[in-house]
Amino acid sequence: MLLANKVALITGGAGLNGLGFATARLMAEHGARVVIMDLEAANPAAAAAQLGEGHLGVVASVTDKAQVERAVAQALEKFGRIDVLVNNAGITQPRKTVDITGADYDAVLDVSLRGTLLASQAVIPAMERQGSGSIICISSVSAQRGGGILGGPHYSAAKAGVLGLARAMARELAGAGIRVNSITPGLIGTDIIKGKLDDERKAEIAESIPLGRLGHPKDIAGACVFLASDLSAYCTGVTLDVNGGMLI
Ligand code: NAD
Repeated sequence: MLLANKVALITGGAGLNGLGFATARLMAEHGARVVIMDLEAANPAAAAAQLGEGHLGVVASVTDKAQVERAVAQALEKFGRIDVLVNNAGITQPRKTVDITGADYDAVLDVSLRGTLLASQAVIPAMERQGSGSIICISSVSAQRGGGILGGPHYSAAKAGVLGLARAMARELAGAGIRVNSITPGLIGTDIIKGKLDDERKAEIAESIPLGRLGHPKDIAGACVFLASDLSAYCTGVTLDVNGGMLI
């Protein structure tokens, strides 16, 4: 039970095939009480119910400061503390540089980058009062080597921005006992890549990855549990690559 007595809030955690829900499930298995924050259409209450009793689903768009603050207040009202924040909500748009519109740019940066800032801002006061906390930011291998199939250059920029934001927060908040780390997933089989790759292309990609396969959501969930738990007590400002060796 690596997360006994801890409360973990996961943004974008309601998609049952996604990284966020896999993380929610593994954290719950490790004893955490979990708050899933997601858009109304994604039905976070239903996702939280799938985890069993004692968890909470809250509706908020991470792009909306008032909604995020309201959702965090609901979580604090129910559980009295927040030990872990996983900034997981994100959207992709496969685009070439010349095709990115202003609206595309705003949408992608708003969810990944502004969303990471707003959710972090909303939980930091509670973590400061507690004198402890772990913030985990889900970036992407796209930040390190370009978007490829998954996202356009604006997605890579947003995810690279997340890494900078996380490191700056890590330095700023270390004295308050709050650790901030990032994960850069490689290509993981979730709804975000659905329809973007046929089986042949997936097999080609798997062959090009040193560990010989695409990632599973549980691969990212395991990294999140490590960074959320006291096993990583001396890690802050770290970027953990979970990509099957794509960058070797
Ligand atoms: P997903 O589409 O299954 O999950 C994204 C979740 O974010 C959904 O539940 C969606 O409802 C939610 N969301 C979208 N906009 C939101 C908003 N404004 N407010 C709150 N929630 C919102 O995709 P996934 O693959 O599970 O992706 C999770 C994270 O991992 C994303 O940040 C993604 O960029 C990142 N990532 C995924 C991969 C991959 O290969 N799947 C690789 C690298 C990084």
